[in-house]
Amino acid sequence: MTQKKQETSLLLLGRAKKYSQGAVNPIIQRTSSVIFDSVKQKREASSKRAEGELFYGRRGTVTHFALQEALTELEQGAGCVLFPSGAAAITQSIMAFVKQGDHILVTGSAYDPTQNFCDQILRKFAITTTYFDPLIGKEIAQLLKPETSIVFLESPGSVTMEVQDLRSIVSAIREYNSEIIIMIDNTWSAGLLLKPLTLDIDISIQSATKYIIGHSDGMLGFAVANQRCWDILRENAYLLGQCTDPDTAYMTARGLRTLPVRMKQHEQSALEVARWLKQHPLVDNVYHPALPSCPGHEYFQRDFTGSNGLFSFSLKKILTTEEFASFLDNFSLFKMAFSWGGFESLILGYQPKDIKAMRQYSSQPELTGTLFRLHVGLENVDDLIDDLNQGFLRISS
Ligand SMILES: *Cc1c(COP(=O)(O)O)cnc(C)c1O
Repeated sequence: MTQKKQETSLLLLGRAKKYSQGAVNPIIQRTSSVIFDSVKQKREASSKRAEGELFYGRRGTVTHFALQEALTELEQGAGCVLFPSGAAAITQSIMAFVKQGDHILVTGSAYDPTQNFCDQILRKFAITTTYFDPLIGKEIAQLLKPETSIVFLESPGSVTMEVQDLRSIVSAIREYNSEIIIMIDNTWSAGLLLKPLTLDIDISIQSATKYIIGHSDGMLGFAVANQRCWDILRENAYLLGQCTDPDTAYMTARGLRTLPVRMKQHEQSALEVARWLKQHPLVDNVYHPALPSCPGHEYFQRDFTGSNGLFSFSLKKILTTEEFASFLDNFSLFKMAFSWGGFESLILGYQPKDIKAMRQYSSQPELTGTLFRLHVGLENVDDLIDDLNQGFLRISS
């Protein structure tokens, strides 16, 4: 049979009869204890515990196995570990591959809590973190040390959206020491727009809380590893007691079915909003990976197959406290909230000093004014532009 296109395969993944028992969707199986019929069966289950067989609730049930199979396929890896949140997926994946005295490299544009974990938790184990410029490319070689065990990437970066030259970074690391584990926070792509494991990255990590669940009503994280990392990642997560509830695993699998169609609409509307913002007299720059004005745009064009609803833009001026509040407090559609990837539009605002505090590298955007991150949802795009336009009227006096 010929290879199916992604829209089709996402409808089929994780729906084998052993998961669905004849229904369309996998069953929701809730259990802690798994009953063994014989000593022999218990012994066999213990030895095969990695292979999607019931063993104990914390190892997962058929609902989890169905989802793990689908996500492994989505990210083209050897296996998938589920976590209760994206943040847990990141921290546990890092923990699985460090020891006392190690050094790790983390992109300076990484999601804030990733950086906080390195600074506050890893530090306690004498594991040092160097943050690197997301636009560093092959120059990353100069930061690698004999004790470097992990390089952690995220592309585009959180909030400031820099797209990394993943190919040059990976080849420079491999040339230096092929044992270094390369991980990426692949949440922005949802596994749809970028396939990190095909670029020789070892572990792709996501917050499924965002686009995959897609309705802002559940939290789940996961990490898909290649063959060489899979056993260690899985056993570490098990030893650290990571598990997820089957209801959220079910919702995550359900989200996969509509992910491509939702993503196309997010992409189309966000591009329309981004282009409208670009020509607005109050707007300085639009940080959207698909537009040439975004740092690293050329790598986006080379490595990604599309974009989504999440991007940022900056104003020419710094809003006063009153303007900042009146802009953000009064939208009818763009709501102020953390997270993104749901059906609804969201907005967050940052003053240049806030960005400076989050970003320590030299290529950080030179902001002359306030920056906003938008998540463009599934509302009609004319309504969204109208909502933004009303916001601009509130600050243009
Ligand atoms: C939200 C987010 C996370 C954390 O995911 P949670 O499911 O909220 O824990 C990690 N990385 C990125 C890029 C995110 O946007």
